[in-house]
Amino acid sequence: MAAALAARQSALCTGVHCSITLLERQRSSGSKIRISGGGKCNVTHRGTPAELLEKGFLRSKERRFLRHALYAFSNAHLLALLRSRGVECSERADGKIFPVSGDALSVVAAFEGLLRDAAVKQHFSGRVRSVERKGELFIVNTEAASFSGDAVIIATGGVSYSHTGTTGDGLRIARSFGHTLNRLSPALAPLYTIKSPPSSLCGLSLRSIGFIATGGGMRLERQGDLLFTHRGFSGPAVLSLSRDIADLSSQSGQVVHLFADLFPGQRVEELEAHLFQQGRKRGSQMVRKFLQSCPLAPQGGNFALAVHGTIPTALIPLLMQQSALEVDVTWSTLGREKRLSLLAVLKAFPLGIVREVPLEQGEVSAGGVALNEINPKRMESRIVPNLFLCGELLDYAGEIGGFNLQAAFSTGWMAGNNALYPAQE
Ligand SMILES: Cc1cc2nc3c(=O)[nH]c(=O)nc-3n(C[C@H](O)[C@H](O)[C@H](O)COP(=O)(O)OP(=O)(O)OC[C@H]3O[C@@H](n4cnc5c(N)ncnc54)[C@H](O)[C@@H]3O)c2cc1C
Repeated sequence: MAAALAARQSALCTGVHCSITLLERQRSSGSKIRISGGGKCNVTHRGTPAELLEKGFLRSKERRFLRHALYAFSNAHLLALLRSRGVECSERADGKIFPVSGDALSVVAAFEGLLRDAAVKQHFSGRVRSVERKGELFIVNTEAASFSGDAVIIATGGVSYSHTGTTGDGLRIARSFGHTLNRLSPALAPLYTIKSPPSSLCGLSLRSIGFIATGGGMRLERQGDLLFTHRGFSGPAVLSLSRDIADLSSQSGQVVHLFADLFPGQRVEELEAHLFQQGRKRGSQMVRKFLQSCPLAPQGGNFALAVHGTIPTALIPLLMQQSALEVDVTWSTLGREKRLSLLAVLKAFPLGIVREVPLEQGEVSAGGVALNEINPKRMESRIVPNLFLCGELLDYAGEIGGFNLQAAFSTGWMAGNNALYPAQE
């Protein structure tokens, strides 16, 4: 959609007459936008393009590739475009930007209106099966018809949530033109563990904790919220680390162990000093009572402030069990060895072993068309002139926070903007 609009805009700017056709296999456009952000659409993120790249794209190769597109069509451009169709957006404290309406459909409606005004011909319910090059022309074949054009932009998305239409068709088409496809892998995906968490914990959320994955001598870590599910774990910290975990377990075949650090801001010695102090001051207090009122992830070493809530009651028996502590043990009866064992569990509570990082369940899929085969200043194939590729089918994946939609809009816009004009030598 962004690519088609940009193509029209550049045609208008230069007085070129052209016909622009958008082919969509679904009955309507923007199926992923409709379900994005839980139906509220986290459309982009606050900050300069440099800040978005820094916060949203953790791999430097991907940052370098996306840089040009994010400057060429930034969050400010996107918000102005939406505003031009009456869609006001607002920022949350964490920097995420949503339409004020709280409705993802308003974003889709804005694009639909813009596409109508731009006289973009739209064909729905027609799945593109192949694209061929015949001389200077491209022939695009859907199930029912063929279209020809001077330039083609492939914007078919990733491979997760396949019911939205993203089944990797564009990837196969890119390969038919000689493009390399890097291994597809899940990103922003939940984790399934070999042993499911106890049902009593299902739905429980731990705020701002440290989420740790280890395997093959590697230690990966993110701080954020973690959610217990009936098959494993989800929540921002888990989603963010899922791509690295998938790489670790599939590329090096490693067994990946998961842990939660309930005190990510405290070094082991600091936490030990706090527990020791507690033992000296309140010898008759039961350790489990102390844990119940203990703040999760206390900030700045302040154990009196429960900014992220306290350790959930449902977790206490498991913490006691893992530390091999009796239910009614008090500080005065807790020897040093047991205190150290509690300390170890609080800093690395075992969550289980990864069974699967489900590709289909990822909010995005990583992998796809190799970035070094795409000109990042045009989004044009370096293999086939006038073939453009953009969005999630390229081998990048952003963090949660509106970065993926922004990257899709930015790369799409750049592709459309350049599609009418040959590259300058
Ligand atoms: C549940 C969920 C929530 C998300 N929430 C957010 C969020 O809040 N913020 C954010 O930034 N990102 C979010 N994302 C990610 C974001 O939606 C995607 O990264 C983004 O939509 C990718 O844009 P795209 O244009 O590359 O592909 P898509 O938006 O997937 O669009 C590809 C289109 O191509 C069509 N297509 C595919 N194959 C063919 C074919 N053969 N012929 C014709 N048409 C075809 C598809 O039907 C689809 O409409 C979310 C994703 C999911 C799954």
